[in-house]
Amino acid sequence: MKPRYLTSLDLDAFIEAAREVPYQRIDSDLFPNIEVWIRRDDLLDPIISGNKAYKLLFNLIEAKEQGADTLITCGGAWSNHIHATAAAGARFGFRTIGIIRGECPPVLSATLLDAERFGMQLRFVTREQYRLRNQSEFLKLLGLEQESALYIPEGGANLAGARGTQLLGKVIEATAPIRFDQLWLACGTGLTLAGLVSSITNLPVCGVEVLKAGNSIRYDAQRWLEALNSPSPVCGRGVGERATSATTRNQVKHSADLYLNNKYHCGGYAKYPEYLQKFQRAFEHQSGIPLDPLYTAKLMYGLHQEATAGRIPPGSKILTLHSGGLQGRRGFPPAVMYKK
Ligand SMILES: *Cc1c(COP(=O)(O)O)cnc(C)c1O
Repeated sequence: MKPRYLTSLDLDAFIEAAREVPYQRIDSDLFPNIEVWIRRDDLLDPIISGNKAYKLLFNLIEAKEQGADTLITCGGAWSNHIHATAAAGARFGFRTIGIIRGECPPVLSATLLDAERFGMQLRFVTREQYRLRNQSEFLKLLGLEQESALYIPEGGANLAGARGTQLLGKVIEATAPIRFDQLWLACGTGLTLAGLVSSITNLPVCGVEVLKAGNSIRYDAQRWLEALNSPSPVCGRGVGERATSATTRNQVKHSADLYLNNKYHCGGYAKYPEYLQKFQRAFEHQSGIPLDPLYTAKLMYGLHQEATAGRIPPGSKILTLHSGGLQGRRGFPPAVMYKK
């Protein structure tokens, strides 16, 4: 039997693993009058999982082709992207440097302890320095500029990352077990949303915003859609590239195709009020599927609220995306996560 997780840095092997990701029907009274399924991308790989794995894929392939031996990236103390990048470096043979927002705490988070164990070198920077993370001078200012390194922006948010999420869209189209009416996912930057919208035909994609962001998620997602729509040689390889040109030919997706719901951030990023905790425990007890408090809990809570309010046509078949992030559960007290 073929391995069910990512054993080598190879596009075909990745696609194979992505095609094996299970879809589950959720049997729960939390979603009245609709049929809810979940695609378990938390199970893509035991450690390099969720949408961060897709965002890393073409970045890693690019690093290998460039002959880079080091990946440099940045994030916060509980970042799923930092965790996935550190693990991918250890797995596929890159040194990794993680630029971490804020001062080095007396006790490292579980995420950063893992990252260190995976061999990532941690570099703590002030919030002022961190604000410069998207400027071309950033690495130079920190003395981290080096020929043999590839810099991956926070969250894996670059065109190569977006192409990886298009690959996910194509895999969903090819493997969905039934015909769905809508696809729902949690949105932080909106990049994954843009990748899916641009690569999936005939399935409306709905994003649940997990932070109070004004219009910025829609704006950024729009920018990514435009970048994906314009044929670009930046990461000219693989299925992502094919997906893009197919989309360009058939039906270019525009901002009007971006459905975003901003009612379920539950107070803001990483806010985890009692009612959300209660909902998450009920969902997990009924479905047996673990969620993370920052992203997928809010996704499911939003779907629960919309279904309960009757705002989704009865009988709709909804596919949700489990975008991973389970390592972040460790940032919350077990007494909260596992209370009866
Ligand atoms: C990063 C992340 C997201 C958000 O993805 P965007 O592309 O930034 O919108 C969703 N779910 C999980 C678990 C994540 O780690």
